[in-house]
Amino acid sequence: QKTNSNQTTHIFKSKLPDIPINNTIPLHTYAFQNLPQVSHRPCLITGDGKTYTYGDTHRASRSFAMGLFNLGIRKGDVIMILLPNSPEFVFSFWAASMLGAVSTVANPSYTFAEIMKQLKATNSKIVITRAMHVHKLKQEEKNTFIVITVDNPPENCMSFSVVSRTEGTLPEVDIDPDDAVTLPFSSGTTGSPKGVVLTHKSLITNMAQLVDGENPNLHMKEEDVVLCVLPLFHIFALHCVMLCSTRVGCTVLLMEKFEMRALLELVEKHRVSVVMAVPPLVVALSKNPEVEEYELSSIRMVLSGGAPLAKNIDKAFHSRFPQAILRQGLGMTESGPVISMSLGFAKYPMTTKLESCGSVVRNTEMKIIDPLTGSSLPYNTSGEICIRGQQIMKGYLNDEKATAEAIDEEGWLHTGDVGYVDNNDEIFIVDRLKELIKFKAFQVAPAELEGLLRSHPSIEDAAVVPQKDDVAGEVPVAFVVRSSTSNNGNSDLITEDAVKDFVAKQVVFYKRLKRIIFVDEIPKTAIGKILRKELKAKL
Ligand code: ATP
Ligand code: MG
Repeated sequence: QKTNSNQTTHIFKSKLPDIPINNTIPLHTYAFQNLPQVSHRPCLITGDGKTYTYGDTHRASRSFAMGLFNLGIRKGDVIMILLPNSPEFVFSFWAASMLGAVSTVANPSYTFAEIMKQLKATNSKIVITRAMHVHKLKQEEKNTFIVITVDNPPENCMSFSVVSRTEGTLPEVDIDPDDAVTLPFSSGTTGSPKGVVLTHKSLITNMAQLVDGENPNLHMKEEDVVLCVLPLFHIFALHCVMLCSTRVGCTVLLMEKFEMRALLELVEKHRVSVVMAVPPLVVALSKNPEVEEYELSSIRMVLSGGAPLAKNIDKAFHSRFPQAILRQGLGMTESGPVISMSLGFAKYPMTTKLESCGSVVRNTEMKIIDPLTGSSLPYNTSGEICIRGQQIMKGYLNDEKATAEAIDEEGWLHTGDVGYVDNNDEIFIVDRLKELIKFKAFQVAPAELEGLLRSHPSIEDAAVVPQKDDVAGEVPVAFVVRSSTSNNGNSDLITEDAVKDFVAKQVVFYKRLKRIIFVDEIPKTAIGKILRKELKAKL
């Protein structure tokens, strides 16, 4: 705590000591620093069993970098990676970094309009994709970008392997730590996805905060096999799976898409030890009956992030995975991305709680502020989470105004997430500032009500949003998916009144649900976040 003349600033730090971080070198140099020791070790394994060693991966990335250079890509130019999880995704990312160029990553399932919007915003000169997506890339009058496909190239496109087969020596490029290396986009949960500028320095800092030091906060080992089923075009997998694994020298198992049986087979076959997950995957691992058919004792660690984890999943999870630790981390694209990580994942683990999103990473300051007054708050008091450190973004892409709103003059990034820190320095997320429902002067956190609803055996999934109300301003209403197990006779289906009652019994009056809308599915983003804006539009 620092005391000014009349005000105390409450600053939260990691329980782990700060460490020296070598963040003035290029990202690829830092990530591949142990290449001589690990060059023969497996770096990537694909779903169909192809293995690339660290040596192979580094060579393929360099060759593609050479190819891009021969196509005219220079320092600062942007290339778009429009691919599912695949070795070429990884090679393209490193190739851009090696040239001092910048990659932007996008969901290949995006529509024509979504892709073109990101392509224009980032001014991408090259798009790396598959032939099946080429129809979504229309050039305007003159050709502004080159399309490279990793499979058989259609007309006017180039082939990834041919581009990689060019001659020459990679030029020496002068990379500044504050140069952009990647432009990921936020998930678009609360509005349009926002382009985020992450630099060599931000990503190295955040990797070191997780996996470096004598007692790394996220202990990954060379022998680990890390499941990569979350899409690499989102910062969670890009950073926590791909970048951190490369630094550590462990193996990444690339899955192109989520399919439960295929996942279980691969985990069993390759003895996956680390699973980076989002809450729906944790629920599936804990509850789906088919999980019982596989031998999954290799899993030692499951990290959940991206969205709030269902309460009381503990018992179901541990009855199946008694040897594994399940904990959470909190991240956002703008914060490079990891804000906090459970110290239960440390090399010398500490006792932590499942419901917490972990403790703030090392070499970082965090504070919780009163959203109205801006003053910092002590332990056990909810407010907006702010963080300051060398890992946070340089800014939003071409948007100074939005950047100035997110990062204040003192360098604090305002996350828009509401939470508090308990006496054990663990962070608990209450909800997003923007999503709090305002019932008169009271605030209702949708995440809390969703947690309650999902704990009901007849409810499979739920989302709570505000509905305009003449008297209260806003009232909470719920979209509810009934569970399939309660479907064995229509009379069993849970009714609107039963749902309302179930909640009303457990909450204060202003949190009571005013209306229940039964639906077949809750709309979610590619990594499983509730698309509340779509639900609000339905009301
Ligand atoms: P947009 O900013 O475009 O509206 P987004 O905020 O969902 O979308 P991301 O950067 O992918 O885009 O996600 C960051 C957000 O995800 C965080 O601000 C937080 O609200 C949420 N989040 C991440 N991890 C957790 C977690 N463990 N528990 C609860 N929420 C989480
Ligand atoms: Mg956000």
